[in-house]
Amino acid sequence: MILLKLTTKQDGMQPFQLWDKRDFSGRVIEIYHLSSKLPNHESIIIPDNKIICDFCNDPITTFPVFVMRGCYALCDKCFLWVLQ
Ligand SMILES: [Zn+2]
Repeated sequence: MILLKLTTKQDGMQPFQLWDKRDFSGRVIEIYHLSSKLPNHESIIIPDNKIICDFCNDPITTFPVFVMRGCYALCDKCFLWVLQ
């Protein structure tokens, strides 16, 4: 079993935040392996220019971006869908 956690500089409890492009710098995916055959923990750095919608995987190119629950970036289409 593998657990994933995306950490950011701006983890928060607000339902939505507006992030500028620079707010996406320094993101890391933390992977925790529960199997004894693998290392217990890995960190993968996300390139600062790789910004995609966490719902539909479309690239995000316009800013600011709505970010849900402190770490889920939404494209305009998905943001409108979430609000319904
Ligand atoms: Zn989307």
